[in-house]
Amino acid sequence: MPLRPVLQFPDPRLKRVSEPIEKITDELRALAEDMTEVMYDEPGIGLAAPQLGESVRLIVVDTEWSREDGDGDRNPLVLLNPEIVERTGEVVWTEACLSVPDFSAEVERAARVTVRGLDLAGEPYEETAEELRAVCFQHEIDHLDGLLFIDRISRLKRSLYVKRRKKQLKLEEDGG
Ligand SMILES: [Zn+2]
Repeated sequence: MPLRPVLQFPDPRLKRVSEPIEKITDELRALAEDMTEVMYDEPGIGLAAPQLGESVRLIVVDTEWSREDGDGDRNPLVLLNPEIVERTGEVVWTEACLSVPDFSAEVERAARVTVRGLDLAGEPYEETAEELRAVCFQHEIDHLDGLLFIDRISRLKRSLYVKRRKKQLKLEEDGG
């Protein structure tokens, strides 16, 4: 079966605020599986359910994995209803997103965050992360609130990207 496509800006579904998960169903487990597959396939270090068009508070991250290491080193963390309960410091990171094609930009975020949520078995999970992993958690949790990293850059940079993206989409349309 082909993998599910990642929605891309400016798909309006990326702007929705996702619903909390109240029950762990087979459907939810299947979605988590799909998200994990898509993340490794792209490849990316994180993915949020809204990127596959599902408005539920579910993310998957794996900041350690690299394609060179192969499947053996995969260690995906699936997190339900993730929340940042503590944030400290500041870090500027160059971010990109599978839903924002052909663009990256510096974003200011907390350097260290404590994240709380549930795992797929419904058990509480808590982790304190720094640097790239902290940035990744903040980026993915933003998706659950309908925010993209381009919502956190200057208005000017954002409007330049939006213009370029619209032009690109129009070319794709015209070119068939
Ligand atoms: Zn993203």
